[in-house]
Amino acid sequence: MSEKKVPLDLSIRFVRQVGNRSEAFEKAGVLTLRDLLYYTPRRYIDRTTASPIGQLTGNEDREVTVIGTIADAREIRMKKGKSRYEAILDDPTGTMKLIWFRRTNQIKKWIKPGLTAAFSGKVNAFRFQLQMAHPDLTYLSKGEVEDLQAGKGKMIALYPGGADFEKVGLDARKLRTLMDRVIGEYLPQIQDFWPQEWLDKLGVVNLREAFEAVHRPRSIEQYRKGMERLKMDELMMLQLLWAWTRKYNRRKAKGIAYKQVGETTRDLIEKELPFELTAAQKRVMREIWTDMRQQEPMSRLLQGDVGSGKTVIALIAMTIAVENGYQAALMVPTEILAEQHYLTSRRFLEDLGVPVVLLTGSAKAAERRERLAQISSGRPSIIIGTHALIQDAVQMKNLGIAVIDEQHRFGVAQRLKLMDPGTDRRPDVLVMTATPIPRSLAISMYGDLEVSRLDEMPPGRGTIKTIAVNGAKDRDNLYRDIRKRVEQGGRAYVVFPLVAESEKLDLAAAEEGREELMQGALKGLKVGLLHGRMKVEEKAAAMQAFASGETPVLVSTTVIEVGVDVPEATEMVVEHAERFGLAQLHQLRGRVGRGGRDSRCYLVAYPPVGEVARARIKCLVHTLDGFLVAEEDLRIRGAGDMFGVKQSGMPPMRFADIVEDQGLLLKAKKLADDLINTDPLMKALPTVKKEFERVALRKVEWLEVG
Ligand code: ADP
Ligand code: MG
Repeated sequence: MSEKKVPLDLSIRFVRQVGNRSEAFEKAGVLTLRDLLYYTPRRYIDRTTASPIGQLTGNEDREVTVIGTIADAREIRMKKGKSRYEAILDDPTGTMKLIWFRRTNQIKKWIKPGLTAAFSGKVNAFRFQLQMAHPDLTYLSKGEVEDLQAGKGKMIALYPGGADFEKVGLDARKLRTLMDRVIGEYLPQIQDFWPQEWLDKLGVVNLREAFEAVHRPRSIEQYRKGMERLKMDELMMLQLLWAWTRKYNRRKAKGIAYKQVGETTRDLIEKELPFELTAAQKRVMREIWTDMRQQEPMSRLLQGDVGSGKTVIALIAMTIAVENGYQAALMVPTEILAEQHYLTSRRFLEDLGVPVVLLTGSAKAAERRERLAQISSGRPSIIIGTHALIQDAVQMKNLGIAVIDEQHRFGVAQRLKLMDPGTDRRPDVLVMTATPIPRSLAISMYGDLEVSRLDEMPPGRGTIKTIAVNGAKDRDNLYRDIRKRVEQGGRAYVVFPLVAESEKLDLAAAEEGREELMQGALKGLKVGLLHGRMKVEEKAAAMQAFASGETPVLVSTTVIEVGVDVPEATEMVVEHAERFGLAQLHQLRGRVGRGGRDSRCYLVAYPPVGEVARARIKCLVHTLDGFLVAEEDLRIRGAGDMFGVKQSGMPPMRFADIVEDQGLLLKAKKLADDLINTDPLMKALPTVKKEFERVALRKVEWLEVG
């Protein structure tokens, strides 16, 4: 009576119906029965998406699908031995022409009078005749055609197939039939890992219904419900991972309960800093100090727009750590930034006797050895450096706090590594980012962190005006303006863009650009150069010369994107702004307006400027608010692309989209928190636990679950 259950891990080779055609699936990454069930259609055709020819105008700006029968077809010879193939497609409402200019030899074997199929593509009208060039062809079975024509509403699934599948005899129609049989055969044996009670809480259908709905939907509504289930699973696993990580951090890792904010810190704030902390800075400091006093290690994200004064926060927190007898590390993404932070720290802390050590890749061997010795001595000090610090973190036996600046440059995995240095005591961790992170992304990528916000700019800042410039027309005027501003005492950055992912090519572009400016538009002005291949001292010298006005124009590659602080800078020219991402442009803009003078940021774009690039530039012209910029960026680019989500080691999201599915995401967060808080080891839900381990195991192992 009782049915045998198939393991979902069953190799694809043993899945009935697939048999010796498994190779094509394996190439597509489908290795098990589970993978096969999750091998979902890339789209569907149904009567609601298929357009009657009679209703088309040729002005549709999207792809359409037409279901019809080939009435006539012929090959037409053209010059130079070429030919094109034309067919007339009829449906009950009208007629359209289909045209192929390539692969006509194959096409003529497939497209013959009498064939009824679905054709997808863009339609245009040519001499009053509708036509579609190189349409996508979907063969339909007789039954499918009848169903569609009778308006039975069945949706036809289109699976991602291709050459590998065709090689083993699986064209789109056969692949569909195969999937249909697999679903029919195995679905009744699928067990859900969520018990009914949880399905109700999650508000989703069970797994069988979900697969049925996604592979063989009878309506869009049904499909949506099925898809929602698959999305919810992904979001729940992600949120369980974060909820669990938070719990783990609290229970497993012993942190440091800092004793006091002493004299040194007080002197730093009251005597050394040349300004009063903003209200936001004070509030954030209170949040941080509250964390630092607790035994439990701090895991905090500090968000604050460019120029909001995060560095000072880091310095104060690190000084507290040193004063309490610990080492404090500040990790930054570039050498130039490390150097800058080093100089800033020295300026404020030297008189107070707080040692500051700089550790970068470019230090000379002897110097490096000496600094490493200082670090491994465990002497309370502030240590500033690049990624090198992660490798050397273990040697900081006495590490009390780790600050990571400009987090978006590092992956989640790198951050977690720093947070778990493999000793039995975990340092407090403060992660800082200047690229504001929309809520959905914060919940997804930084789910294990508490969040602080610097939502107020230090006083006395000038305004920044953002100006879009058409490089083909207004470049001369632009540099005439720049010359005038510089002659009036301003300082101008000119950034040349990423040519390729190559520092060398970028440099060439910047050098060339500088040459051209010095010969032409900016003749007679002193123009400096800053690029990533310069030595640290050279970079510092170039920036110094810029700040002092010795070279009031600084041509640069994108090295200055992150964090560079020259308050005197007033003009920012971004050449080929159309090639930059939104967040990057916002960062570049943040390099000016840091002093009291009014500033301008010129985004110079050269036609043809694509739609996306235009949207980015428009967004920046309209707002200075980093949060709006980030939301827009997320909208334009999608989450996968941002902040290295793809490489971040987050559990994969194939179905869910943290932007579009924000409602589901928030629900998942709440339910996952509840679950882990009441039953951290998921004792009551063994099947869910198993699934969780399967999906998130690598990360959990990595955190060394006891
Ligand atoms: P962020 O790292 O957030 O981009 P920084 O920490 O580099 O910003 O600060 C930008 C500039 O503002 C620096 O020159 C810094 O000295 C200055 N600054 C920071 N806090 C204040 C404040 N409370 N009042 C005035 N100036 C400040
Ligand atoms: Mg900074």
